Amino acid sequence: MTKGLFDGREIEIACPKCGHQNAKTIGWLRTYDELACVGCHATIKLDHEQFRAGLDQADKSVDDLRRTLRDFGKK
Ligand SMILES: [Zn+2]
Repeated sequence: MTKGLFDGREIEIACPKCGHQNAKTIGWLRTYDELACVGCHATIKLDHEQFRAGLDQADKSVDDLRRTLRDFGKK
């Protein structure tokens, strides 16, 4: 897999059950399709299609990245 410009950047994934902000790097999120919530230990499924679509745009502009990260996890 191609290493992206923002792979080392940490973002927070909000748990849909308890709302805990789980900090993960973008490189980590590219590799795994689910994460265990630190707050309630629930398994959070990551929507990679949605995530990668946002990431493709994000690679073009930091502003796009910020917008993508703000919206990620809300749905
Ligand atoms: Zn949780």
